[in-house]
Amino acid sequence: MTESNEPEITFFAKQERIYPKRVWGRYRKLKWVAMVITLGIYYLAPFIRWDRGPNAPDQAILIDLPNRRAYWFFIEIWPQEVYFLTGILILAAVALFFVTSLFGRVWCGYFCPQTVWTDLFVWVERIVQGDRNKRKKLREGPWTFEKLWKMAATHFLWLVIAWVTAGSFVLYFNDAPTLVWSFFELNVSSTVLAFIAGLTFSTYVMAGFAREQVCIYMCPYARFQSAMFDSDTLIIGYDEVRGEKRGKHKKGEPWDGRGHCVDCTACVQVCPMGIDIRDGLQMECIACGLCVDACNNIMDKVELPRGLIRYDTERRMSLPEAERSKKVVHLMRPRTFYYVVILALVGGVMLYALITRAPQELHVLHDRNPLFVALSDGSIRNGYVLKILNKTHDHRRYSVSVEGLENVVLEIQGAGDIQPENLYVEADSVGSFHITVSAAVEAGPPVPVTFILIDKQSGERSVYESIFVSERG
Ligand code: SF4
Ligand code: SF4
Repeated sequence: MTESNEPEITFFAKQERIYPKRVWGRYRKLKWVAMVITLGIYYLAPFIRWDRGPNAPDQAILIDLPNRRAYWFFIEIWPQEVYFLTGILILAAVALFFVTSLFGRVWCGYFCPQTVWTDLFVWVERIVQGDRNKRKKLREGPWTFEKLWKMAATHFLWLVIAWVTAGSFVLYFNDAPTLVWSFFELNVSSTVLAFIAGLTFSTYVMAGFAREQVCIYMCPYARFQSAMFDSDTLIIGYDEVRGEKRGKHKKGEPWDGRGHCVDCTACVQVCPMGIDIRDGLQMECIACGLCVDACNNIMDKVELPRGLIRYDTERRMSLPEAERSKKVVHLMRPRTFYYVVILALVGGVMLYALITRAPQELHVLHDRNPLFVALSDGSIRNGYVLKILNKTHDHRRYSVSVEGLENVVLEIQGAGDIQPENLYVEADSVGSFHITVSAAVEAGPPVPVTFILIDKQSGERSVYESIFVSERG
């Protein structure tokens, strides 16, 4: 309180340490399965090989920054095709909206990296320090030898996990076996070490300390996910109609005139977000289902039906018990239909772009200075830079020609005796050529011309529209 006895306003709420209690049940098992699958994919995917031929990397998933390429199994993305990345992000966002509108925050509860790594760190903490009460006692107690070694062991294991996590991330940007081997040879670049150090620190802080604070204060998705909810979205809910009036219950006592909640707080003790689901749906709830398992175990003990806390829709929860069985869950609703349509549209466009993706590209840039040169024989010459993108994994030869002008003469400049009919471009790379186009034209406005590129092996054809300049504008 201040001197004037008015309540003091603080802008910072100190983090209340949460000690989630161990629980077992269907949703806990699902979370273990999700954790093993997601971590397994994350740690092992860089080691999957994918044969692209002798002139391309054989790592299935690779972001090759020095060569400006991204590889995902059979897909290779060049910098010019960044729209694929945009499409993937749009697809991922709409898929997330779709799943959220159906099943609530299952992404948050089971698959989000913040949840998965926090779960892993809590598991390590529990293995070393014991379950909820022991952890709480240890942390709040004085510094003894036991506390010292248990804390040291916990933080050491967290750092090891964080380091492996950071190292695995860097593997996606390098050839994984080579980089791993370079660690054994103590021959790792300082850039790689700096990235690993930074990512180790952020993993350690996010999963070891920040934990639920990330979901509550940092994650934008947590803020707007409620916009995707409606009364038919599956949420984790406490059945107030059945549970209230809550209160302690002794074995053998009748259940008449009271609710089924025995106020044991098991659902609160297991919650990784530290909330009480009996207070209603809250922004902090990540729909992990652990309170469902905890409550079901209690219901089994007191020999009452399971499901006092459960996955259900708000609409069904608000009905009297007798009417609930008639009200089915509506999965297909206007909102979910729109998401499906958007998913199909974006997915279809991306698939079409992928299937019709050309194995080569031609870009033509007109010289700016000089725009044209008048030759002694009366003809006009224009210069251009040709960029030929050979997206195949074979070395290729191309021929280039120009349409739109009579008796045109093409010459490749400054490159020995390379002929326009025989331009060599190495596999998976960009060939750059300076070409001049000469023609006997009268001075006048720019004439449209078409550059035609033909792959001499496959016959694949690419065109690029440009202009031929013959007088100053
Ligand atoms: S309230 Fe239940 S579902 Fe929500 S975060 Fe807590 S334990 Fe998970
Ligand atoms: S676990 Fe179930 S019975 Fe226990 S407090 Fe929570 S809702 Fe009530």
